[in-house]
Amino acid sequence: MPHVMISACLAGENVRYNGIPVEDVDKRLKKWLAEGTAVLFCPEVEGGLVTPRDPAEIIGEGGGKAVLDGTARVATEKGEDVTEAFVDGARKALAFCLEKGIRYALLQERSPSCGSHLIYDGRFQGTRVPGRGVTAALLEQHGIRVFSEAEIDALESAFTGSL
Ligand code: SF4
Repeated sequence: MPHVMISACLAGENVRYNGIPVEDVDKRLKKWLAEGTAVLFCPEVEGGLVTPRDPAEIIGEGGGKAVLDGTARVATEKGEDVTEAFVDGARKALAFCLEKGIRYALLQERSPSCGSHLIYDGRFQGTRVPGRGVTAALLEQHGIRVFSEAEIDALESAFTGSL
């Protein structure tokens, strides 16, 4: 039974917006996936977006929670509103976790879906601000603990301690 949902891009899946997979995959992730401790999920692809796709950011204050509350939007740099796909992907990620009894998520930092501590500020200038992405915010609201790729040690301690 899996304990952790991992952003699919962190394991080298070709789901990133720019179509360039991560090559340097942490060996702990490979081990967890091989033994069935972890499973992969990409909220943006599951929300219906294609790879590659235009980069998107959360527009407005409050990060992913505000998007879920309807007070902020997600849009591409070209101005296309992609809020619906991001919210749909977040809901599917939550349903996936609940169905499998998953209590932990390892998520790619800075993503407007998966960022757990940092996101971009909505001006497409590379400026990072504190905040969660849409999926990270929804998972956290439902008691699923979210960790970034810089916190794999803490994640490992958390879920092995709960076994
Ligand atoms: Fe998909 Fe999240 Fe990775 Fe973006 S950060 S490609 S939404 S898994």
